[in-house]
Amino acid sequence: MLADALRDTLQRLENAANDAGRPCPGLLAVSKLQPAEAVAQLAAAGQRAFGENYVQEAQAKHAALAGVPGLEWHLIGHLQSNKADIAARLFDWVQTVDRIKLVATLARHRPAQLPALNVLIQVNIDDEASKHGCRPEQIDTLADAITAEPRLRLRGLMAIPAPAPDPMQRRQAFQRMKQLFDALTRRYPGLDTLSMGMSDDFPLAVAEGATLVRIGTALFGARPRR
Ligand SMILES: *Cc1c(COP(=O)(O)O)cnc(C)c1O
Repeated sequence: MLADALRDTLQRLENAANDAGRPCPGLLAVSKLQPAEAVAQLAAAGQRAFGENYVQEAQAKHAALAGVPGLEWHLIGHLQSNKADIAARLFDWVQTVDRIKLVATLARHRPAQLPALNVLIQVNIDDEASKHGCRPEQIDTLADAITAEPRLRLRGLMAIPAPAPDPMQRRQAFQRMKQLFDALTRRYPGLDTLSMGMSDDFPLAVAEGATLVRIGTALFGARPRR
């Protein structure tokens, strides 16, 4: 069942990329609130990258799936400063770096035996008061701080646009993200990841240049409530 959903989603992703004349983005399977068993099923079907929102839940799932080789764990939920040390040990990627304070803590706690922690800067692209993410003007300062840390590896940007009912509005947010990403890439040519697009809007994000989409519901079905 999950294998079918994975195949369908990968096909839709490929179609969206073909329609847009762009390379096919990577798929991050968002497994928050889903049981470890569901992750194991998707992993058996070939999926490798999984996104989690809550550090404690991710810790438990990580432990439950320790026997499955080659999994890649991304933190996509807001990171509280007092959990940054755990996150630095647990995840392969942290997509939600949005303030200077996190940078030094993540770097300090990244274990020496692990590769550098992959980091995305989360941007509050619609300037929502209730949302996490830095303002676009803060990207350069954060990027400079991250790239100064050998235990961190800056890979690009991430955003969650406002849930606008008007698809054009969301599309414009994706467009602005792509412009910010291109500008940052001119300063740091090694960057390769623009993480945007979820179950209900990923074709728009792909059309605007997403390189990684984060999909939960379309893969796993509706989430149990927290
Ligand atoms: C939950 C979540 C997703 C996945 O959302 P779906 O609509 O279920 O695809 C993607 N990104 C983030 C940051 C999320 O919290």
